[in-house]
This record gives sequence, C-alpha cells and structure tokens, in this order.
Amino acid sequence: MQLKLKMFHEGNAPLANGHTRDSLLRLSDDEFESNHGFIQWAFPTNVKSQQNVAAPILDLQSAVWLANEPSFITFLEDMTAHFLGFLKRNKHWIKAYDHNHLRISRAIDAIRLLHSWELASWFHGRVLEFAGDADQLMPKAAAIWENKADPRHDRVAGAFVGLAIGDALGAPVEFCRRGTFELVEGFRAGGKFDLPAGAWTDDTAMALCLAQSLIEMYEIEPKDLLERFARWLEFGENTSTGVAVGVGQNTLRVLGEFKRNGTLEAVRFGSKNDGNGSLMRLAPVACGSTFRSDMVSSMASAQSRTTHASDIADECCQFTALLIHELVRGNDYEEARRNLTEGDWSYPLQSILDIDYTEFSDVGIRASGYVVDTLQAALWAVETSQSFEEAVLKAVNLGDDADTVGAVAGQISGARYGYTNVPDKLKQGLINERELYVTSQFLSAS
Ligand code: MG
Ligand code: MG
Repeated sequence: MQLKLKMFHEGNAPLANGHTRDSLLRLSDDEFESNHGFIQWAFPTNVKSQQNVAAPILDLQSAVWLANEPSFITFLEDMTAHFLGFLKRNKHWIKAYDHNHLRISRAIDAIRLLHSWELASWFHGRVLEFAGDADQLMPKAAAIWENKADPRHDRVAGAFVGLAIGDALGAPVEFCRRGTFELVEGFRAGGKFDLPAGAWTDDTAMALCLAQSLIEMYEIEPKDLLERFARWLEFGENTSTGVAVGVGQNTLRVLGEFKRNGTLEAVRFGSKNDGNGSLMRLAPVACGSTFRSDMVSSMASAQSRTTHASDIADECCQFTALLIHELVRGNDYEEARRNLTEGDWSYPLQSILDIDYTEFSDVGIRASGYVVDTLQAALWAVETSQSFEEAVLKAVNLGDDADTVGAVAGQISGARYGYTNVPDKLKQGLINERELYVTSQFLSAS
C-alpha cells in the first residue's frame, strides 16, 4: 500500500511543494503549467514516472482502495475537468512535443484504472477535439493516447466483471434442477451457501487469484498460482464474504496435494478430472494487451493443468481463451467463433462447436459440471441472446451448475459487448465490484 498516497488523498496531507489535494483544484493556468510535482499524485498510475523519482507508483491494493473512496472519485472527476479547462484555454501544447502530452497519457491511464474506460475515453475525445489534427501535429503522442483509450480495455473489464456477475447471479440456484426454481432476474440472496445478494463464489475468487498472479509474474507460474489458490481456500483471501465457498472435490484434493508435496501439476484421480473448474476462472489469460494468441493458448492450458489433469478441460480452456482474446481485440463474434471452430479439436469439443445454436432450444443443453457440458451451455446462452444481461440470465436459469455456466457465459458475453454495455444494476449490486474492475485494468495494461 502506498501510504503517502493514502495520506495525500485521505488526510489532505501536503506534498513537498506545499500543495494539498484541495489546492490542486484551484491551480491557476500558470501554476498548472510550471508546477511539476503534482500530476503523479492527482493521476496516479502503475507506471514509474521518468520525471519525478519520488512520485508514487500505484500498486493494486492502493488502486482498489482509491477506487472505493468516494471523495477520491469526486476529486478525480473534478481534476479531469480542471485539466481539460487548462488544455482548452491554452494552445502552447499543440505541437509535436510538449510535457503536457505525458500528463495527458498519465491522466488517460489513471482515469481508466481508477474510474472507468468510459470517462477516460471521453477525456481523450475532448483532448483530440482541442488539439485539432493530432495525428499530424503530434503523431507520437496521438498514437500512445489511442492505445491507452482503446475500447479493448472496456471489453477486458466486461470479460472479468462479467464472469463475477454470472457467478453471483447463478450462485443462489446452483444445484437446483431446471424448472424447479423461480426464474432469476437479478441478484438475490440464498442458495446452498446462504450468500447475500451479489456475492460470488469460487469461480470469481480463483479468477482473482489468476489475475493477480499474472499481474505480478507476467506469465503462468504454477507455484505462485497454487499458493494463491491455497490462501483463498485456507484464509478466505479474494472472497466476497471472507470465506471460501464452492470449492470442488478435485480442486480440494489438488490443493491438499500441493500443500503436502508441492505438486505443481495436477495428477489424475477418480472421475472428477474433466470438471469445469479451470474453465470458470479463465478470462485473465485472454486479457493482457501484449498477449499474443499463441501465448493465450499456452497460458490457458498451463493454468488448467495446475488443478485439472484433463486433456479435454485443457482444450476447452484453450478454445474459450482464444475466443475471448479475439473478442477483446474487437473481432466480430460470429467470425471469431467460425474461425476457431475450424481448429483441430478432439471429438467431444468439436461436436459441440459444430452446432449452430441460434435456433436451438434448451432441450438437450446440459448445465452439468462436466467441462464440455458447461462450455456448450454457455455458448448456447450467448448465441441465443442479444445482450450481456440476456446471455447471463439464460445461462443461470439452466440451473444445475448455474454459477459456473453463468461465469463462463459472463466472460464470453462481457468480452463481446463490453463493460459499458453491462446494465448498472448488475454492476452496483455486485460485491467488491470496484476491486474486480480495477484488477481487470491492471491486467489489461500488461
Ligand atoms: Mg462456484
Ligand atoms: Mg459451480
């Protein structure tokens, strides 16, 4: 945790130059231009400042704290408006190189990390409007801004927060037989674990572990990942209620094996190897801006192997990760799905991919914990729907392993439609929503 940053934003503690958070909002244009010690405090990011070595570097924990702090959010919005006012009134920055270009880059990053892609994108749009022909006048900066404000980041948030929404919507009806419960229309309390409304389970908790591991290690490091899974199970880290709920038999056994013997790759046992436990948490491997398709595929496989000694679970993870990756990059759903279906998949997976679900009823769709059934149910829900909300509701209303089918449909449709198109009621009702959003944006920038 960046304590100085916390003091500055919570206690209004002054910076070395005497400015407090409140006084930054009153900087005159001259002061805004010539004062070099404040921008990293007003717009904190996880990138080290080249100009100011004493500036804070935002870590995930501090970012989550800031994003949850209403007074910081109000300040960030006011500061964004203040910065835009400065850029609008002054023209000296409209040239090939100017120090304000770096400040604009930083502001886009900070707003996106801590508030929303939507506000960052709006800020970016206003800057371009003031700059006139930015591509011509300041090509280098314009390209950097474009990348930072790319809608890809919104789709990453959609995939990750979407996973949690599907999980939380499904949790109250997990293990219920289809048609035996009142249809899910929004968050509600209850279920086998008697959770409050908007609480999510092992699917999202393990996805958070995977995301944090990738943010720190840049790749799948089985030991780091398994340690995080074990801390989740033992201490309730990364949970929505403080307690780990929903752990499957296979994962329980594998984590016990890891704790006792340090086993880094799951070994086969009984009939539980082909479960959906490595598919439900998958989204993070598809979300980094620098991740290429071959990396996505091998990371999907490697993360699956840590807990599931299953070729078919591995393949389902690879397919789904590649699909999410294509969607995040802005490719059309039908086209991505068609291209990926032509891959060289083994029989049980290929047979569900060859089906056109658009006119398919739910008869014959099984929402069981078998990984192929789960993926098929999620694809059916996504492909018979016109929006994120419709897709996740269809998924969870299949019952049975409802939270996990919801989590898989949520990842895919979240990447397809983007976070901005997820209804507010589903974001606001979700426990720890800001933590999930901020984590997705740290991941997206990696
Ligand atoms: Mg679960
Ligand atoms: Mg489940």
